[in-house]
Amino acid sequence: MNTENTRSYEQTDRNTVHRIPKRAKYDCETIHRLFDQAWFCHVGFAGEFGPTNIPMFHTRIEDQIIFHGATTSRLMKYLANGEPVCLSVAMVDGLVLARSLFHHSLNYRSAVAFGRGELIVDPEARLRAFRAIADKIMPGRWNDARQPNELESRATSICAVRIESASAKIRTGGPLDDKDDLDLNVWAGVIPIQERIQSPIDDPNSKPKVPVPDYIKAFVDSNTLQFTRSNDVRLT
Ligand SMILES: Cc1cc2nc3c(=O)[nH]c(=O)nc-3n(C[C@H](O)[C@H](O)[C@H](O)COP(=O)(O)OP(=O)(O)OC[C@H]3O[C@@H](n4cnc5c(N)ncnc54)[C@H](O)[C@@H]3O)c2cc1C
Repeated sequence: MNTENTRSYEQTDRNTVHRIPKRAKYDCETIHRLFDQAWFCHVGFAGEFGPTNIPMFHTRIEDQIIFHGATTSRLMKYLANGEPVCLSVAMVDGLVLARSLFHHSLNYRSAVAFGRGELIVDPEARLRAFRAIADKIMPGRWNDARQPNELESRATSICAVRIESASAKIRTGGPLDDKDDLDLNVWAGVIPIQERIQSPIDDPNSKPKVPVPDYIKAFVDSNTLQFTRSNDVRLT
C-alpha cells in the first residue's frame, strides 16, 4: 500500500463516483498521471460572490498540486489562506456518436481532487516548485532561460494543494446504443480527438538567431508520441 504504484486515495462519501462507477479509479498512479497530462486545471472554491471556478496552469510534486501567480491575485490569496478547494482536469479523446441522440457521449479522462491551499514560504521548497513549474512548461528550460530575479520572485506566490481525496473517471470505447436501435440506418462510431504538439516557431524579435535547442526538439518529438498513445480509442 505504500508505493506510488499501488497507493490509492481512500473512497469516502466525498470522492466516490456514483454515476457509472465502473469508470472510476482511485489509485494515485492514474490520478497523478491525469494531473500531469493536463496543461491546466480548474480550481473551484467558495468565492465571495458564490461558487467560482478559475483555470490555472499547474504542476505536481508527489501528491501536491502546485500553482504560481501574482501575490495580488485573489485566487493565490485564497490558496495562501488555507481555504478548501476542488481541482479538476479533463481531456477529451473522442466524440461518441450513437444511433440515438440519447446515447451520444464523449470519450474522456478526468480527475477531481479535494484539498486545502498552502503558501510555500521555505526558500528551498519555493525553488523546487519554481523548477517543477518550468519543467512542466518545458523540460530543460530552467537551466537555459533566465531564472527569476529577486523582484520577480517577490511578486510571485507559490501555493500547493496536497491532495486529500481524489477520483478519476475514464470513458473509452464506442457508442452504447439500445439493442433496438442497432438496426437503424444511422452512422455510429467514434471520432477520435488528439492534442498535437507542432513545430516550434521562432520569435521574430530575437536579435541573435538562436537555433531550436535539442531539449525542445526532443520535447516536440516525445510529446507528439505521448499524446498519440494516451488518446488510444478502442471500439469495444
Ligand atoms: C469532458 C467531460 C464531459 C462530460 N459531459 C457530461 C455531460 O454532458 N452529462 C453528464 O451527465 N455527465 C458528463 N460528464 C460526466 C460528469 O463529469 C459526471 O461524472 C456526471 O455528470 C455525474 O456527476 P455527479 O455529480 O452526479 O457525480 P457523482 O458520481 O455523484 O460524483 C461523486 C464524486 O465522484 C467523483 N466524480 C464525478 N465525476 C467525475 C469525473 N468526471 N472525473 C473524476 N471524478 C468524478 C467526484 O469525486 C465527485 O465528488 C462529463 C465528463 C467529462 C470529463
